[in-house]
Formats: sequence, C-alpha cells, structure tokens
Amino acid sequence: MGGGTPFSEATAGASSYPQLNFTPKGQQIRNIYQDRLKQFTAPGQYESKNLRSMFISDREDSGEYVKLQVYSVPDLKRIPFDEAVKSEFKSTSKGQSFGPSWSTHWFKVRITVPTRMLKQERLEFHWDGNCEGLVWTKEGEPVQGLTGGGERVEYQIPERWRDGKEHLFYVELACNGMFGNAPGGDSIQPPDPNRYFQLTKADIVAPNLQAQGLYIDFWILGDASREFPGDSWEAHTATQIANEIVNAFVPGSQESILKCRNIAARYLGGKVDSAKVYDSDLEPVVYGIGHCHIDTCWLWPFDETKRKVARSWSSQCNLLDRYSEHRFTASSAQQYKWLEQYYPKLFERVRNHVKKGTFQYIGGSWVEHDTNMPSGESLVRQFILGQRYFQSRFGERCTTFWLPDTFGYSAQLPQLCRLAGMTRFLTQKLSWNNINKFPHTTFNWIALDGSQVLCHMPPSETYTAQAHFGDVKRSVTQHKSMGEDATSLLVFGHGDGGGGPTAEHIEKLRRCRGMSDTIGLLPRVKMGDSVDDFFSRLEKKQVSAKKFVTWYGELYFELHRGTYTTQSNNKKNNRRAEVALKNLELLAAYASLSSSYGYKYPKKDIDELWEIICLCQFHDCLPGSSIEMCYRDSDKLYAELFRRCGELINAAGLALGIKSAPGSDTKPFAVNTLPWDRTELIKLPKEVAGACQKGADGSEYGFLGSKGLVQISEDGPKVTVTETTKDVYVLANDKLQVTVQDGVITSLIDRELEREVIPEGARANQLVIMDDKPLYWQAWDVEVYHLETRRELPAGKVSICENGPYRASVLVETRISKTSWIKTVISLQAAANGAGSSVEFDNEIEWREDMKFLKVEFPVDVHNTEVSNPAVSQERGILLTFQASYETQYGIVRRPTHYNTSWDMAKFEVCCHKWADLSEHDFGVSILNDCKYGFATVGNVMRLSLIRAPKAPDAHADMGRHTFRYAILPHHGPVGETTVRMAIAFNNPLQLGYVAASEMESVSKLMSTISIGGGSKSIVMDTVKRGEDDEDVSTGGIPTRRRRSLVVRFYDSLGGKGSTTIHTKLPVKAVYKTNILEDDISEVALAETATGHKCFKITLRPFEIATYRLQL
Ligand SMILES: [Zn+2]
Repeated sequence: MGGGTPFSEATAGASSYPQLNFTPKGQQIRNIYQDRLKQFTAPGQYESKNLRSMFISDREDSGEYVKLQVYSVPDLKRIPFDEAVKSEFKSTSKGQSFGPSWSTHWFKVRITVPTRMLKQERLEFHWDGNCEGLVWTKEGEPVQGLTGGGERVEYQIPERWRDGKEHLFYVELACNGMFGNAPGGDSIQPPDPNRYFQLTKADIVAPNLQAQGLYIDFWILGDASREFPGDSWEAHTATQIANEIVNAFVPGSQESILKCRNIAARYLGGKVDSAKVYDSDLEPVVYGIGHCHIDTCWLWPFDETKRKVARSWSSQCNLLDRYSEHRFTASSAQQYKWLEQYYPKLFERVRNHVKKGTFQYIGGSWVEHDTNMPSGESLVRQFILGQRYFQSRFGERCTTFWLPDTFGYSAQLPQLCRLAGMTRFLTQKLSWNNINKFPHTTFNWIALDGSQVLCHMPPSETYTAQAHFGDVKRSVTQHKSMGEDATSLLVFGHGDGGGGPTAEHIEKLRRCRGMSDTIGLLPRVKMGDSVDDFFSRLEKKQVSAKKFVTWYGELYFELHRGTYTTQSNNKKNNRRAEVALKNLELLAAYASLSSSYGYKYPKKDIDELWEIICLCQFHDCLPGSSIEMCYRDSDKLYAELFRRCGELINAAGLALGIKSAPGSDTKPFAVNTLPWDRTELIKLPKEVAGACQKGADGSEYGFLGSKGLVQISEDGPKVTVTETTKDVYVLANDKLQVTVQDGVITSLIDRELEREVIPEGARANQLVIMDDKPLYWQAWDVEVYHLETRRELPAGKVSICENGPYRASVLVETRISKTSWIKTVISLQAAANGAGSSVEFDNEIEWREDMKFLKVEFPVDVHNTEVSNPAVSQERGILLTFQASYETQYGIVRRPTHYNTSWDMAKFEVCCHKWADLSEHDFGVSILNDCKYGFATVGNVMRLSLIRAPKAPDAHADMGRHTFRYAILPHHGPVGETTVRMAIAFNNPLQLGYVAASEMESVSKLMSTISIGGGSKSIVMDTVKRGEDDEDVSTGGIPTRRRRSLVVRFYDSLGGKGSTTIHTKLPVKAVYKTNILEDDISEVALAETATGHKCFKITLRPFEIATYRLQL
C-alpha cells in the first residue's frame, strides 16, 4: 500500500509529504462524469437501483383500505358539491377510464390508513386521473387541486386520520387536461370531443422526505455543474460533489441518504430544509413571487375556468400554510368574484391569507384584458370594476397593473394606470417579439399625454418559470437595465391553464439561495416579498423619477397581428356593445337626474353589462385565440347584453319622454347621444310620413336632425347615379363624384377642391385575398410573407341599387371562390346639412375559406410630409408617404408607412379603432369602419383587414355570414375633428324616437343636459354617467357619497392643448376634476351664464383624459 495519507488530510510540513507513489490516478474526463449524474435520478434502466427507488417508503391501494365509488354527471354538466353528493354513486376502481372530454365524474373516496403506516412521517393520498381534479372534504370544502399526468397528484392526509378508522372525502374529476382537450401533442389544435382519461393512481402513500430532499439537492447541483461557465471553479466543484453523492449512495439505505445530503450541504449550505435559508443580510438580486396565470377562457370555456380557479388557489393556500416564505399573487377581479360566488368557503380561506399578506391580489383590472381593441371607456371600466371589487372585498386597491400575457400595449395605458391609482406595470410578452428585441427590463413607460408608470419586464422572460437554476441565472444574464438597477422579479409557477407553484419549485429556490450564500456566482434569490415591495424599492431608488430609461408611446407587440381580425363577429359585438352601453348610461343619467316619474338609475344592471363587456375583452377572447366553445359562450353573453341594454334604453328614453314607437300625437325625434348637432339619413318606418325616398328594400329614407325630419326642397341637395358607358357608373352629390368601373373605384373627385383622390390607374375598394399560413399560431398570427401572395378579386355583376334623390348606390357582387362571395353596396348621400362627404360601403359576405385573409385596398393620391427632409421614391407616379395616423383609445398613434428599418417593417399590420388616416398638408383621406381593427398603410395604399380563416384553435373561426361597413372620407386640412366626429357618428348613428308634439322642446332640453360651448373642437365628450358612489345609485361594498352627481369624461382627440366651456342645465352645486375612479382631485370654478345655467371651463393637455364630477 503506497501513497499514504490522502491529500485532504495531509498534515502541515513538507517532511510528511509521501516520498513514493505507486497508485496511478487519472484526470477525470469531464463530460463522462457530468453525464453520469443523470442516471442517479432518471427513470429507466437504473430506476430500481437509483435514488428514485427510495422516493416512496410505503404504498397501499388495495380495496380493503381504498374504496372508490363514482357518479358520472350526464350531459357534460358541471354541478355543485351539494347536488353531486346526493347523487347515486356506484363502485369503481383504479384502472378504469372516464370521459368523454368535458364531462365530470364525482368520486366518493373512503380510506383507512393501514396500521403498519401509522408511524410514517407523512401520509399522502395520490390520485392520478390523468386529467384535472379537485379534492373536497365531506363537509364540502375544496381543499386540493389535482393536475394529473404525474403532476400535482398528492393530497396530504390529515394527521387526525391516523386512527385506524375509515375516512371519507370526494374528488371531482374534470375530463380535460391543463391545456384543454386537444388530440395528440399540439395543444392549439381544436379539442377532440371524445377523450377518455384513465385513473392510474388512488393510493395511500408514505413519501421518503429525505430521499425527495436529496433529489432536489442533486437536481440543483447537477444544474450548477452543467450551467455554470465551464471554466469556473464553481462548476467543477459542483461536478465533484455530485459525483461524491452518487458514489456514497447505497440503494435501500436511509443512512446513505442522510450522508449524501451532508455532502450536498457543502455546496448548498445547511439550511435548505427550511425558510431559514433566507435569513441573511446579504443583498438579494432576484425576487421570487409565486404566480398562476389562469386564462379566463382559452382552450377551455369560462365555466371550466371557475373550477380552475378553485383548484389552483386551494393548492396555493396549502403551500402558503406549509412554506412560510411562499408568497402567491393572482390578478383578475372576475376570478375572485367567481370564487366568492361558487366557492365561498375557499374564498374565506383566501381572504385570510390576504389579511396575512401571503396571498397577494394584483392588477386592479376586471380581467387581464386585451389593450389593443377595447375602447378607451372599456379600459376605464376594467379599472373601475377591478379596483372597486378589490377595495370592497379586501379594503385596498391595487398599485401594480399586471398583464404578463396580453398581446401588445396601448400608448394610453400609463395615463390610465395613473388615473386608476396605479404607478407600476408588469408584462413580459414583448420577449416573444419575432423581429426586434425590446431593449429594456426596467424603464419608465410614457403615455401620449406624458404620464408615466414604472415598468418591469422580468428578465427570465416568462410568467410561468419553473424556478429552475437557469431561471435564476437568466434573471441576471438577460437583464437589460443593469446600468440603472440590477434587481428583477422571478414570476414562477405553472400557468396558462392554472396550477401555480409546486412544493418542488419552492424547494428548488431554497437550494438556489443556499448555493448563492455558500458558493456564490448564482444571483441571490429572495422569497417572502410582494411585487409591490419590489416596485416600492425601485421607486425609492429613483426618487427624482429620472433614473430609468424612458420609452414613449405604444409597446407594440411584434407577433399575434392576426388577433386584430380573427373572430370578427366577436369583435363586432364588442364595438356594438361599447356603443350601446355609452348610450344607455347617458340616457339613464339624464333621466335619473331630471325625471319626476321616480325613474331609478339602473346601476346594478349597468355594472353587470359592463362586466360582460370586460369579461369578453379577456386576452384570448376578444383577440380571437380561443376555442369554438368560448365564442358560443360569448355570443350568448352578448345576445343577453343587447336584449337587456335595449330594454334599459327604452325605459330611460320613456322617462325622458321618448317613445320607441309612433303614437297619434308624436313626431319623429332624433335621439342624439353625441354632443354636437347632427343630421343623418335614416330609414323610416311606413307609418312615418316625410319627404322620403324609397330604398332598394322597400323602406323609406329621410333626413333627421335636431328639429325632426328635414324637408329638402325640389332644388335642394341631391345625389344621382348614372351608367355613363357600359359598366361605368358615376355617383355624384354636391361634394363628391365617384366613378365605379369594373366594380372598383377608379376616380373619386372632391368637387369643392376639384381634386382627384385616386391615383391615375389605381383601383380603390379593391378586394384582395392572401394565403394566411403563419409559422405556428394560426388564430394569432399573420406573417409578413402573406403579402407576397396578394391576389386581386375581380368583381362580377355591378348594378344600380338606389338612385336618389337622398341616397344613390350601386351593388357590386364579387365571387371569392366556389363557396364564398361578397356583396358590396357603394353609396353616396345627398350633401344635406353637413352629411354626404364620405362614400360608404355596406358589405355582406358568405365566407367559407381555409387559411385565407381578405382585405380591401384604397390607393390614395396623398403625400405625407410629417417627416422632415423625406427621402422620396416613386410608385405608380405617386410619392411614397411616411406616416399614417390611427385612432387608438383617447388619441392617435402614428406609425410608419415604409419598411426603412426592422422596427418599421415589424408594423406591417397594426391595430386601429374607428379610423385610419393618411394626410398631407391641407388634405387627407380617412378610412372609417364600424367593427374592424386590423389595418396597414404601405406607401400610399391604405388597406383595411376584413376577415381571416384560421383553423386552430377554432376549426370554424369566422365561417359563415357577416356584415360590416366602412367608408372613405376625403377631407380638407390634416386629420382633424371631421374625421374624429364622423367616425364616432359612423359607429353610433342617430336613433329614431318619437316624442309628443307638445313635449318636443322640453325633451330636446333634457337631451342637452350637458353641452359644450365654443373653444377647442378636438375635445370630445366621451362618457356621461352617474357617480359610482352616489347614495341613490350605489350598489354597496364601498362607502357612499351624499347627494347625486353626474360624471362626464372628456379627452383631447387630436394632440393639442385646448380649452372649452361646459354648460349644464342641472342645479350643480360644485364641480370636481377627478381621476377615473372618481376620487376628487381638485375643485373647478363654477360660473353662471346669462340664461341662468351653470358652466365651467376645462383645459386639457394634448391627449389628456379628464373626468369631472358635477355635484348636485
Ligand atoms: Zn394568457
């Protein structure tokens, strides 16, 4: 025996160093010693002899100890606990399969802990139905969510059940996976209606806690060996220690496991088995927060989400009880409300954790909504409903807006956040950009009006981190704002389909922290804080608010551009519902403050209807990325909304003296809910006599304005259509002349300016179709290459439809394919009383295509000069333009019309609201629409996106019949109030009502309860409603305010500081400027006009949203 004492135990002094060595020792071959580590914990050929063989100390599943009975609920119904337990159960066993997809099966589970297991350290019941499940106590309390497929299968058996007696509980089995019911491995494919799930585990289990602890130790050690830099001593040491553990392990020996854990502690520290690992003063860099993203609908319907919430949050309550350092955050007031409604006992448990600060609500909005398409008022309502819910249930509002998964972020969100009491914003979705990398992690994000929020995008680039070593590491390596501040959030836990953190995640983070404090190199992670703590520290660090980098304007998401168009019917419902609610609130507010008939403002109904709109704006619903089932649900919700809204509008109208049907003494009355005078051509029922024109469908038209039906004299304004030569039609009124040739517009002349709008040889209202096969996410994405497959659709038959004097039109019939067609009525109105300056297009389409995209193009002879010193290029003899304007919430976004850089190119398809515009000095063209959101302006071609045909996750998305309208509006001057107002009116046409002749004047006065005087025409009065907390309308939960008030919201629509005077006929005592939650900010001076009415002056900065509360 040579070599003597091992090196590590060598004693000091050169004389003791062995002189002779006859024991060869080779250098380790690194990859072999690294690869070897895997076999210590992997399933497979070594499983019976590796650590895995010791995970479980004992297991029992025999019928003597585990008795199972099942009740399979018929008709895919989801029934409450009380109903389920009264049903007839029949016996069943492990190994059986349950289905079909979406069905529910209730299990009665009776277990007796065998005597031999009574002394085990911990007892669990393992249930694996390979689909989702929820454990209920026999008293009806949901206590543990189950995921299935090996993931989250354990329910901790209560200590008091170690009594040798039989105990009962229930499992509610839901036949869907975490990601719905897609066949095969591709979760976005339409669900298979016929999936069955096998119950593979129903066992009483005694886990070996030390063996499982070693498993996590070893996992993190292995990661350190593989993921630390290869030239670092930290990586080498991890490899050595992990190999030492493998060598020391003896299968079947608990003693060897303890020995192995001691070896691991040399690298991980000795405190990883408790939260004490976090007890050190060393400065952390990464702040871990448990989270569970539950899509409110997506690959499953709303009703399944209600259960996902209960499953996920009950599991989290258990983890919060078990792990003192664990903190869990969840957003969406709607999900809390569902929990409160359907799971009151669990809601109380959550509320207790909220009180302790361990369960942290966040976000302040009703759901995690889309922010591209909802109207400004919808975004406001997301916050009003959300913040008021949180305040009423938990006492405080949120301070952080939370949208980790939404598909792009409107330029006005920072302003809205600030007006909703929130100073912070979190997302990470821009890490999905597929063209440009977003350059910041922590920065000030600034709205169109200059308002800012502090924004953080977790550098681990996910909201569903698995708390891996790599996630912690990437929190530093991918951090892009280290120059300002190196800290970051790590948002971890299973998500999208719910779930949240597991014990394993929390255990892994303990090891990561232990490693940071013992060895170093890995960023130090901390648990136990909240997201608000994290932001508060950042805010403190930058007291001057100037430390962080700034980003002005929208956070455009360079992906999912198809979501502006997919599920067009759903989008149309959204637009219509937003308009309907606006009209309802204004009429109901006026009626409630003026009526002597005891009319009561229907606050509860209005709240419920807004809840529907806000729910359907969820970020997979409105964007069109959910399965077919979800749209069947939203169709029903909208139908209910329109029915109720119609009834409520009629009731409010009646209280104001406006009837919905003509009577013997009534006259037609223009119900105008917009704050400017309007005269519009409307369809009149037969009973109403007027100066009319027969329409193509036999109905009659008349011009209606504030004085009732407008009589137009024989020589008054007219519109005509003539077929000048074969198949060439010319429509003309006093303002415009339109030539339709081969079904497209070849000339559009502004007669006042004698200016041609269409470039020579170009074709406007040209329908084009493209192949639409994005890289993967069908419903979500349209990829840039679709433009290369552009094909013009030739029109078929063209015929005269209506021929003046009030409306003239031609019908263009276009065949898209054997199964699809579109009929377009191109119309012009007589230019009476301000009307008639746009060309309208009414479309009906039968759409049966596969993976195609239909758009309509308007090439225009307009040269944008907003960029100084523009480089000029030629296309069809027309100068290329540089910026187009698009309506967004409460303002305008300008986007390039060229592909100069990859950032410009990325915006090849963008979101617009009611209009898009291309203007030059003194002239421009706007395209208005009544329900579309996708647009592109390339060079001088304006292109409105009409309809798509993706096949996943809804195989039938957009198939069938649709109607939609758009218009082309040439205008003098740059984009201005003409476009803004006409687009609003295009979406909210005058409604016909009937008022007793004797009451015309008084009703007209009531309808102008609030009016805008002279001054800036860019100021839009957008919303009129009653105060949320008025004592006569409050629905409870939040302290009321004495007396009644009217809330009026304005915004500057064009981007310039402006002032105007607001007049009211109400006996107003005081006026306050408020935030959008209606907290008073400052009092506004009130004056009196010569006629004795009250008035007050308002001044708005560019694109400001300003809310005023008029106290009566
Ligand atoms: Zn999501």
